[in-house]
Amino acid sequence: MTTQNHEECVRAESIRRTVQIGGATVNILESVDLTVNAGESLAVMGPSGSGKSTLLHVLGTLTSPESGQVWLQGIDPYTMRREELAAFRNDRIGFIFQEHYLMPQCSALENVLVPSLVHKDRGERAEARARELLEEVGLGDRQNSMPSELSGGERQRVAIARALVNRPAILLCDEPTGNLDRHTGEMVGTCFLNLSRREGVALVVVTHDPEFARRFDRVRELRDGQLTDMT
Ligand code: ADP
Ligand code: MG
Repeated sequence: MTTQNHEECVRAESIRRTVQIGGATVNILESVDLTVNAGESLAVMGPSGSGKSTLLHVLGTLTSPESGQVWLQGIDPYTMRREELAAFRNDRIGFIFQEHYLMPQCSALENVLVPSLVHKDRGERAEARARELLEEVGLGDRQNSMPSELSGGERQRVAIARALVNRPAILLCDEPTGNLDRHTGEMVGTCFLNLSRREGVALVVVTHDPEFARRFDRVRELRDGQLTDMT
């Protein structure tokens, strides 16, 4: 059965969000619509300051829209209570940022395990999953290394494994290769594109790199508060 791959994971309709810039209220997201199914990938491009990070925050349940609606696997997260929402986010959404945000005092393996810690009952299974993901991102022999002993690309690969450890339905990435040189960025990009396809994750990635964006199922540009098709 392949029907699972057509499952709608992310849906946003008429998203509007303002921000205060220098005392003025600016409509940063005017009317944004998008849908991403399981196993599909969407690249979001657009000029700096156009609202790409704001959009990822809205999709990631971190910033509520002023109007419009978000559904994640058919659920409107903004109707949830705070604790319920935190659990939902931790279980279903993986985040990768430009900065890796690894805990410096924890090994690669311990860092990957962080999102699974709330599920105390899953201890052994989570560790097996974390080890497997570290193998998948090519760091099988670096599980006990500390972040300070890893290169920028390796740290970002640890962050990829951490984002996937709870088997999220949705992976949101904000310029994940922005801090890496071209070659390393390509390796890291290939790594999470392959992994998210294999795992059937709905992937939304903000990137400035048109060559990288071309490798996604769809590419759209955020400009003047709207998402327009580039493919
Ligand atoms: P991008 O990621 O495309 O560069 P952002 O979504 O980060 O754009 O930001 C869009 C605009 O909104 C920027 O001008 C930014 O300074 C402003 N902005 C973002 N978040 C906030 C906030 N919480 N408060 C005030 N201004 C914000
Ligand atoms: Mg940004």
